[in-house]
Amino acid sequence: MDFKTLDAMDVTDKTALIRVDINVPFENGAVSDFTRIDAILPTINDIVAAGGKAVLLAHFGRPKGKVVPEMSLAQVRPALEARLGKPVAFAEDCIGKPAKDAVSAMKPGDVLLLENTRFHPGEEKNDPMMAASLAALGDIYVNDAFSAAHRAHASTEGIARLLPSCAGRLMEAELKALDAALGNPARPVVAVVGGAKVSTKLDLLGNLIEKVDALVIGGGMANTFLAAQGQAVGKSLCEHDLADTARTVMDKARALGCRLILPTDLVVAREFKANAPSEIVTDCPDDAMILDAGPESVAQIVDVFKTSRTLIWNGPLGAFEIEPFDKATNSAAAEAAQLTRDGTLVSVAGGGDTVAALNRAGAAKDFTYISTAGGAFLEWMEGKTLPGVAALEA
Ligand code: AMP
Repeated sequence: MDFKTLDAMDVTDKTALIRVDINVPFENGAVSDFTRIDAILPTINDIVAAGGKAVLLAHFGRPKGKVVPEMSLAQVRPALEARLGKPVAFAEDCIGKPAKDAVSAMKPGDVLLLENTRFHPGEEKNDPMMAASLAALGDIYVNDAFSAAHRAHASTEGIARLLPSCAGRLMEAELKALDAALGNPARPVVAVVGGAKVSTKLDLLGNLIEKVDALVIGGGMANTFLAAQGQAVGKSLCEHDLADTARTVMDKARALGCRLILPTDLVVAREFKANAPSEIVTDCPDDAMILDAGPESVAQIVDVFKTSRTLIWNGPLGAFEIEPFDKATNSAAAEAAQLTRDGTLVSVAGGGDTVAALNRAGAAKDFTYISTAGGAFLEWMEGKTLPGVAALEA
């Protein structure tokens, strides 16, 4: 990867337009999770400390090109001020006179938040006029929103082509972690792909079998593979119409020398319900459904983890939200956490429910890197070019 970081930029007395992701959750009118705000503080603090002016560009919700007062970023400003420990000015529009006036009033070290970029239709259309209006406000562009980098929008892509640009601290950390996991990893590399459906993860599987040494398939999607091999799956979640696709993935993996690991023992129950009576079987009865991988399967997964140097994980191994069907996910995650603590494994995880599953397992804090980027993380795992990152590399 070839992109500039903040270290390569002279920000003193400069107006830095920083694209951030502060699309934070609210409960009862207050921000309920500060993770995304805390994650961008290093970039803002570094720019402020160097005597730059920090102007924050961000979206909030999906206003679809219209002004929607409920989606105003003004409501995020108090949380930003609290976490930053300093005042944050606010402009009622991200372009035009309100934005220009607010930027003109700034002194070095000041922080300004501009209103929701998605209030303008030109943002999501990556309209060159919109990008130019944004770019006209500053001297340099800093992208610190990896989670928005899979979208080619005016504030994530267009603007990067108009100003001297670099990655912010969070973007830099994310890209380095991802490069260490798939771009340029220590081998052997094992990937875990779990979750509900094969149909949502076909591109992911296709890319991974070309890049990793072993691929663990778990969760509901493993059922599709088992059924494709002629195994009974009873009433399990299963995409029978994807049997051919599953067989193609298996054949391709074999041809590429990627070891595929499917569950060999299964935890089945008659109901999708917490504490439903369950049993461990090798063949799923007709009236039962597979809700988790069994202990023998977990032992096999752990063995692969022990001989691997890099792990990349997306998706749970079973119906992790309900006990006791969270066991395989929890046990495998705990082992990955231990190996990471021991220094023998680089572990990177992200996407969808993965962060929740690893948090639940108490393993997230020990993973080398957990991406909270969701869609962007998945697209990166699929091997796709992220427009926001490509624009920084240009
Ligand atoms: P995804 O969003 O694709 O990562 O899928 C996560 C969802 O898959 C979670 O809600 C899990 O409960 C669900 N899941 C995992 N394994 C199974 C299974 N064997 N049967 C039904 N749902 C499952």
